[in-house]
Amino acid sequence: MGSDHHNIRLGQILVVCAPSGTGKSTLIEMLRREYPDFGFSVSYTTRAPRGQEQDGREYHFVTRDVFMEMRERGEFCEWAEVHGNFYGTATAPVEAMLDQGRDVLFDIDVQGAKQLRKTFYKGTFVFLLPPSRAELVRRLTRRGTDSGESIARRLTNATGEMRQADFFDYWVVNDDLDTAYEELRAVYLAGRCKPVLRPGMLDSILDTWGSDG
Ligand code: 5GP
Repeated sequence: MGSDHHNIRLGQILVVCAPSGTGKSTLIEMLRREYPDFGFSVSYTTRAPRGQEQDGREYHFVTRDVFMEMRERGEFCEWAEVHGNFYGTATAPVEAMLDQGRDVLFDIDVQGAKQLRKTFYKGTFVFLLPPSRAELVRRLTRRGTDSGESIARRLTNATGEMRQADFFDYWVVNDDLDTAYEELRAVYLAGRCKPVLRPGMLDSILDTWGSDG
């Protein structure tokens, strides 16, 4: 049954954006744990690995030269400069997962999300919001990983991203984590039910459907 089902749907893209400190990584991790079949788009970045990050798992870590060559060759379906580093999504692996009927999750910034809407298939675009600016400040301060300067920069970026919040299909406010997760999951499941058809796809579905005569 399961594999039959895949024949009638392509995978969907789910794009999750949020100002830094909103809890995006935690919520994405929860979603991936509950849906292990989720394809995750591993981005290319020119920034250095942090902590436990492994090449090919969190990111493909590449030099600026390699990144620029890939960009020249048109291998990215979106790319952006964030906090002074380059980040990009390679098109081919994403298409391969979608063709297999797997959904693909993107953890990217707002600039990238806007490009994806243009260059890629339809998808579900979710924006996570902190309950308030004051709460975001508290969270960024509490996590203790950032200097005062870095917090200030993240807040400026957060305001910039909040200004673009009207781009998104759905908003999920992360006040209580469990409630936010429930909402994110509901949004994902609703997105899965939207038909995403490439030209000719309905015809080939009807071919396998068969006829009444
Ligand atoms: P970090 O360096 O903290 O892992 O990520 C910084 C920001 O870059 C986050 O908002 C993250 O979502 C975003 N980002 C990560 N990968 C990509 C990508 O491939 N494209 C774009 N546009 N943004 C990305």
